[in-house]
Amino acid sequence: MKILDISTEVKEIALKTPFITALRRVDAVEFVRVKVVCDDGSVAYGEAPATRAVTGEDIYSILSDIAFIQEELIGLTPKDAIVSLHLAEMGSSAKAALDMALFYLLPQTKEKQNLTLQTDITISLKDSDEMISDATQAIASGMNILKVKFGGDIKHAIEVTNRLSELDAKLIIDANQAWTQDDTMEYLEATLNVKLELIEQPVKADELHELRCITNYSHVPILADESVFTLEDAKAIIEYACADMINIKLMKCGGVTKAIEILEFARKNDIKCMLGSMLEGPISINAALNLAMEYSDVIAYIDLDSPLLYKEPSNELEFDFNGCEITRK
Ligand SMILES: [Mg+2]
Repeated sequence: MKILDISTEVKEIALKTPFITALRRVDAVEFVRVKVVCDDGSVAYGEAPATRAVTGEDIYSILSDIAFIQEELIGLTPKDAIVSLHLAEMGSSAKAALDMALFYLLPQTKEKQNLTLQTDITISLKDSDEMISDATQAIASGMNILKVKFGGDIKHAIEVTNRLSELDAKLIIDANQAWTQDDTMEYLEATLNVKLELIEQPVKADELHELRCITNYSHVPILADESVFTLEDAKAIIEYACADMINIKLMKCGGVTKAIEILEFARKNDIKCMLGSMLEGPISINAALNLAMEYSDVIAYIDLDSPLLYKEPSNELEFDFNGCEITRK
């Protein structure tokens, strides 16, 4: 089986309400969908959203990266194409879109797992009262793990966290790099009585020394997100004890093939992971959820709530979302 054609299109899915973090605000999920066709008639799809704030890529760079490499991949087997793809210098999301399509075209040796998984739901960064109201609404609609987005205003983060502690839900805190080491220490002191699952990426991606000091000091587990793209990053973070856990996202590591390498490393070293996503389309969420089912022993947290944020449900999902529970269709 050889690759005959690769094509792309840009798609958009409207959101129920805007998604707001310390890094950005968006009203719709916009992504590139790539279609790979083989000479035996097999067809597979991949997707990549533009998340410039994290991966540095926009829709145009994803399209141009795919256009740049596609001639090299046409005529190869999917297996050889995956090797060529990962040798190329290009954006990690563009790679992820191609990788997930090519991975799907490989002979599938493992049976697909069918578990009930739980995803968290994002509570966007807003003023305090709105965040409490959004959280209350999310809990009422069946969610029980909240991923709460904060920005640089540490007093606001402390106030909202203390108020959220009165609600009946597990709390994951994501600062998206907005805090300093001092902010984080202040936050930890002021929320000592609140049970937190973890704090995600308090400081800037390259502030590994600060991240390590925080991890060493903190009674709450620290999760590295923007600091970890590749397997090498994951190894360094763990070796130098910069964080307790890592957040794996297909768009950061370059797709399913690379995510599996990180998950195998985590499994061997008994490191718990979060499997996360950007705001993504249904095909890349399917790819992530298939991984989440296969690596449920190392994936302690699932942050794949994009489909819950779509204005209209997607019929391209292989999974049902019922409140926080996810099952295979
Ligand atoms: Mg994060």
